[in-house]
Amino acid sequence: MYDALTTRYTFACPDRGEARVALSSFRRVSQLPGPSQPAVFEIEFGCACGGEHPGLVSHDELDWAPLGLGGEGTFVNLMTATVDPVEAELADLAARRIQAGEWPWSFFCYAEERPRPVFPSAFVVLAPSGGGTEVGLAVRCPVCSSISVNLVSTQHLDVPFHNDREIGVVEHVFAADAERAVEEFADELYSAAFDSRRLAL
Ligand SMILES: [Zn+2]
Ligand SMILES: [Zn+2]
Repeated sequence: MYDALTTRYTFACPDRGEARVALSSFRRVSQLPGPSQPAVFEIEFGCACGGEHPGLVSHDELDWAPLGLGGEGTFVNLMTATVDPVEAELADLAARRIQAGEWPWSFFCYAEERPRPVFPSAFVVLAPSGGGTEVGLAVRCPVCSSISVNLVSTQHLDVPFHNDREIGVVEHVFAADAERAVEEFADELYSAAFDSRRLAL
């Protein structure tokens, strides 16, 4: 499902059978209701065929697989050596960087006026821009629950621990239940109305 070497998720494409997509090609992320453990997320992604398709991804795959932490999503399980050696190496590296205070993904919470560490499961809506080099990203803050819209590079999303030195921030606080408003907003994201500040992360 997720390939740590190519940093791509594999989903079904009705046209081509299979689509391999990076996080920055996701368009919407929402947790399915219900008690399933681990949680399951429904995503929509922009496909190379030009369409957008739905896909399902487990919480572990969404948040942990990009760090080489396939499977149970705990650092302890790395040591059971049941994972692929390359993934184990990635996971070990990821664990050490997190312990050193680095974070694989970050965003700027506009409501709190500060950067926050985040996992992909906090992404809400993504909209491509800049000829595919930038992404407008609506994120639900894990601390204050408000939604902020950032403008980041695709690398900021696709390469764990790569953080843009500066990111664009839309000066607007969205309520926690504002998915619809955010989607409408995403449509305007790259029009002249888009007004962002560049903030150091
Ligand atoms: Zn497709
Ligand atoms: Zn916040």
